[in-house]
This record gives sequence, C-alpha cells and structure tokens, in this order.
Amino acid sequence: MIFNTDFYHSLGLADVRRKVMDGERLSMDDGRALFNCPEPLAVGALANEVRRRMHGDKAFFVANRHINYTNVCVNACSFCAYQREDDEQEGAFVLTAQDALDKLAASPVAPREVHIVGGCHPKLPLSYFEEMLSAIRSQYPDTVLKCFTAVEIGHFAKLEGVSIEEALKRLQAAGLDMLPGGGAEIFAPDVREQVCPRKLNGDEWLDVHRKAHAMGMKTNCTMLFGHIESIDDRLDHLIRLRELQDEHGGFVCFIPLPFLTENSALTIDNPLTGLEKLKTIAISRLMLDNVPHIKAYWVMLGVKEAQAALKFGADDFDGTVVEEKIGHGAGASTTQGMTREEIRGMIRGCGFTPVERDSYFNAVEG
Ligand code: SF4
Repeated sequence: MIFNTDFYHSLGLADVRRKVMDGERLSMDDGRALFNCPEPLAVGALANEVRRRMHGDKAFFVANRHINYTNVCVNACSFCAYQREDDEQEGAFVLTAQDALDKLAASPVAPREVHIVGGCHPKLPLSYFEEMLSAIRSQYPDTVLKCFTAVEIGHFAKLEGVSIEEALKRLQAAGLDMLPGGGAEIFAPDVREQVCPRKLNGDEWLDVHRKAHAMGMKTNCTMLFGHIESIDDRLDHLIRLRELQDEHGGFVCFIPLPFLTENSALTIDNPLTGLEKLKTIAISRLMLDNVPHIKAYWVMLGVKEAQAALKFGADDFDGTVVEEKIGHGAGASTTQGMTREEIRGMIRGCGFTPVERDSYFNAVEG
C-alpha cells in the first residue's frame, strides 16, 4: 500500500509520486529528489508500486551456471580483486574448452543458461572463444549461452583486428546467444579514468550493446555504485541506459552492483549502507521505465539484502550460479551457489511467488 499524497508532499516528492502513479517518465531532477529524500521507505514504496504493476507478485530466478574462463587481464581496474597481471602470477588460470565442459558436466543443476565471463587476456585469440562456445553448444543445444561483456567483446575485436560487428557475428555463429551486462561500471569519464582507465569508455560500452541489439541480440546492463561516483553520475548512467533502450529495446535486465570494499585496492571513506543500496535499486526501477527487469543479485548483495530488494523494485533473484569467482574475489561472503528449492524458499519468505524463467524471462517448468 503506497504512502499517501500528504506524506510525499512533506518529503518534496509530490510531483514525483504523481508522475510514478501516472506512468510518466522521471527526469534527472526527479532522480535527484529521490536520492535526496531522507526516507528510503518512501522511495522503496514507489518502486514497489511500479514492480507490482509490471510483474505482480512474481519474483523470477533461473537455473544458471557461471564459468570464469581466465583471471588474466590487461586492464587492472582499481576496484578489481580478481585480476592477475599475466599467466605466471600466482593464482592465474586459463580454462580450456574441455575444462568448461567438465564444469558443466559436474554441475548439480542442469543449466538453462550458461554465463561465461573473464578477464581480457592479452593472447587468447577469437578462435579460443569460438571453440569454447561450439563445444558447449554441441553438447547443450538448448542452453542459452550468455557470454562476454562489452569490454571483452571490444578487447577480442581489437586483438583480432576485426570490427565489433565481425567479432559478434563470429561468436554468434559459434553459439553465442546473449551478452551479459558487466563492464559498464559508471559511464562518467572522470570516474572511469580513476577506476578503470584501460577499459572501453562509456560511449564504446554502449556502442557494443547498440550493435548487438541491432543484430537482434538481447543483452543485460549493469551499474557499479558506491565507490567514488556522485549521485549525478549514477543518474547520468541510468539515463544513458534508458536512452539506448529507447532505440532498440534490447536490454532485458538491469543489474545494480554495489561496490564491495573488502579486497579492493580502491579505498573509500563511506562504504554503502544496506539502505543506500536498496534506495539505489529502487531509483533504478523508477528511472529505467523501459527496462523490463531489475535484478537483486544475491551474490553481491547477500541473500538477505537481495530479499529486501524484492520489496524495493527488483523482480529477479538471479539464479543457482554454482560457482562464482569475481564477486567472491571482491569479498562477497555469500555461498557459491543455491539450489532451486533454496531460491524458491527465499522468494516465498518475503511474500512473492517464485517463477523459474529462461534467459528471456519466459516462465519454464523447473
Ligand atoms: S574488472 Fe574485469 S576488466 Fe577490470 S581488471 Fe578485473 S577482470 Fe579485468
């Protein structure tokens, strides 16, 4: 039940509330008013209103399996606790296609979706990725292969000396279905210069997704928040995603990723509180009026905050995951994976109806 008009008036959010109730698009100033609101529950109630309008009491999850193929990466982002400089550094690894198949064969859950991401290795040719995709595709013909962030696609194309379109086409021919949303971080150039100076810039990240969408490929999108970015940087990021979504509608799901401080070389004075994370998730739901789904990524949020996020605008709980190295390298203290029944229990525990989905959010029988 949404709080009454007088309450929002007292918070300076009467106009924002009216726009939300009327389904009108929110502006940058509306977003600022939401971030400035001292009452996170009021912001959460608006986001919950929108998520219930879009999805009722459904909360989605997927039987998925993450595979990280290498941690060797040329980028050295300041927040990354996963990267190794080269193959010789302690802990460095590169999987073969057979290693990936072995991981899938050992998976306790038959994956409906395989999520493959890794570092930007200085030597792996495009054929390495084509072979890995083809090997998985031949054994798992119906599994959706959601692989390689825009940053990786840009790196593969540069290393191979081909265009982004050519790299995407070759990977698609080998079995790639969809791109995950990682690597977006925060688009603001001055922040990017400090946290990930060697990565694709914001325009380039958006352009990889634009090209994928133009080919008919669906993708996800993310925002890493709670480090050195400003509130305006977060809003600018969300609005730029919204503008791209207006072009082709290719984004399926937005994943707000809270910055984890534990093992990062990037030190910050004021780590995020739980309520700040929930408020940002809620504002993401409200600003991204054209992105159908908002994920409560339990790996990074923790299971309890992810449950709370379902009341703050999120409608997806991600999935079984099985093994995850990047968030856990950054200090995520969550388990490596969950069973379907555990996820269903988590969702029911906060009053929603669990719906197992495929990568495109079609309901499936588990
Ligand atoms: S965040 Fe990704 S691109 Fe950046 S250093 Fe880590 S693995 Fe490399």
